[in-house]
Amino acid sequence: MKVLVTGGLGYIGSHVTTLLLERNHEVIILDDLSNTSLSVLNSIENITQKKPFYEQINLCDAAAVKALFDRHNDVAGVIHFAAHKAVAESVAQPLKYYHNNIEGLLNLLDLLVPKKIPLLFSSSCTVYGNADELPITEHHPVKAAASPYGATKQMGEQIITDCCNAQAGFHAILLRYFNPIGAHTSAQIGEAPQGVPQNLIPYLVEAAAGKRPALQIFGTDYPTPDGSCIRDYIHVMDLADAHIVCLAHLLEKKQTSPTEIYNVGSGKGHSVLEVVTAFEKATGISVPTKIVGRRKGDVLQAYADTTKINTQLGWKTKYSLEEALRSAWAWEQRRNN
Ligand code: UDP
Repeated sequence: MKVLVTGGLGYIGSHVTTLLLERNHEVIILDDLSNTSLSVLNSIENITQKKPFYEQINLCDAAAVKALFDRHNDVAGVIHFAAHKAVAESVAQPLKYYHNNIEGLLNLLDLLVPKKIPLLFSSSCTVYGNADELPITEHHPVKAAASPYGATKQMGEQIITDCCNAQAGFHAILLRYFNPIGAHTSAQIGEAPQGVPQNLIPYLVEAAAGKRPALQIFGTDYPTPDGSCIRDYIHVMDLADAHIVCLAHLLEKKQTSPTEIYNVGSGKGHSVLEVVTAFEKATGISVPTKIVGRRKGDVLQAYADTTKINTQLGWKTKYSLEEALRSAWAWEQRRNN
């Protein structure tokens, strides 16, 4: 099958692309290189010994996106990752986020909906906000977004749902990711933040490598067993595999409703301090840390109930937290070499 992956050179998109190629799909990557580099394409080719088709296009360029679909009129499905994702930046520059994330999605839907090309959308557990109940099921209410980034995910979900309801035969799956971490088992692709990392694991590995003075622990006075926040960390390889399973479900037209929502996480909650300890145990490398105050906007705890995707689609995680952290460290070492 021919599959279009928007943002296919980004962190999650590149891992999904390698799995698609390994499963003998033909892959077209659309990426504007705004938060990645062309070297990722070479790494994908090295890993898979296959060459995906690639075009440097920004999804906001409606004419260019249409021309791409005209050249590839046999696209069977689309996996949509291309979006800005830095929470703090979205607060400082909301229009950048609304333009890019919403306009890009609308341009894509303009082409997909009339042709009924199924869509897999990359959403986030951020839509749940500070959860009322744990673990979080898909039935948990969507809370007011805490940032423009979060708002674009909520709006994206709503826009896609409306399109699925309006156009019979147009189907989509919305995947609500918890915290993806780690890197490809080959250590040839992984998360490559530009500048100072904002997320826990990218910062942790740079602190472990001596590139940052110390990992700041944002708060140890939360009402959790050790006082630090709890998240659901999922190996990016497991997350990528969930996309393959969902895409097959879409392409085989097995959906019982036009829009399906699935949580994708490990189902386990780990505190920030537990993650640091697990990293040190898994790698033998100690992490310099400094306890500082709470980070504004952080939710106390979030971890997934993954029963729906486990039972309906037969997907489950294969990797442990320690394996994910070892892979993140292997990738960091490779980047430094
Ligand atoms: N965190 C931290 N130090 C950092 C980055 C993150 O203590 O340098 C904490 C953060 O407060 C949160 C957890 O690690 O409790 C995960 O943060 P991340 O930004 O990776 O994900 P998100 O907050 O979006 O779930």
